[in-house]
Amino acid sequence: MRLGQYTTPTDDAPWCGVRVDDDTVVSLPAAGAAAGIDLPDRTVDLLDTWEWRRKAELAVDHAFETGSGVRDAAALDRHAPVTGPEKVVCVGLNYREHAEEGDNPIPETPVLFSKFPTAVAGPDDTLSWDPTLTGKVDYEAELVAVIGSEARRVDRADALDHVAGYLAGNDVSARDLQHGDGQWVRGKSLDGFAPIGPELVTADAVEDPHDLPIYAEVNGERLQDSNTDDLIFGIDEIVSFCSRAFTLKPGDLIFTGTPPGVGVYRDPPVLLADGDEVTVGIEGIGEITNDCAFD
Ligand code: ZN
Repeated sequence: MRLGQYTTPTDDAPWCGVRVDDDTVVSLPAAGAAAGIDLPDRTVDLLDTWEWRRKAELAVDHAFETGSGVRDAAALDRHAPVTGPEKVVCVGLNYREHAEEGDNPIPETPVLFSKFPTAVAGPDDTLSWDPTLTGKVDYEAELVAVIGSEARRVDRADALDHVAGYLAGNDVSARDLQHGDGQWVRGKSLDGFAPIGPELVTADAVEDPHDLPIYAEVNGERLQDSNTDDLIFGIDEIVSFCSRAFTLKPGDLIFTGTPPGVGVYRDPPVLLADGDEVTVGIEGIGEITNDCAFD
């Protein structure tokens, strides 16, 4: 199942929907209401709904039978599939070659940092920043795991049961702030610096999250080209590790780290600027492309 959040031009706030094919989205609140099934507007609340997957499937079946809640995808604006997560957890240096390209030692346990939830942006949003604040904006293609059920002190063997699904994400980074501040909060958390999408692909539809080609392109040129089979710490290990320190909640996002090829370590460096177009893609998950603009 592919879950997104959408608006029509007259909607005040995004609602979650199932993208059933290229042309069609089923609005879960609308189809649910027609079917007598109470489904919330936001994905974070949906993931926290008892038996949400079965309810969503019933709502989609009802929509196809009656037409209620069926929407033309071309008439919708796409938003981040998850907005307002409680936490955005990130793993640094989680691909061996990326650690090496920055002359960092291979970590022995996951290196965690975070982005503020206000950094989350959608697959079509413009990535904008003040060029007087940062002159070194960089891309990081990442597989993002979305937590589906509360996880506290879970074993590695049970950890993937707590993952609802996966997204493509760009851990956009202001390198001058990241490296100049002594820690990473400001450089990683500028507004809109966590575009995700295009849809949340539920875990049952991803055969092996640790074997997915992943890439980043700037203006069509492929600059990162790797596979999640190079992750040092797998998603089960990361979820278990996090859950021993803090409780993961439905909708929490985990950016799992980026492969080699980021802009700052290239020779010459490739830094994003006004007018650039940056794409992050993961095979089987999808692709997001954000235009860059000075603001
Ligand atoms: Zn990252």
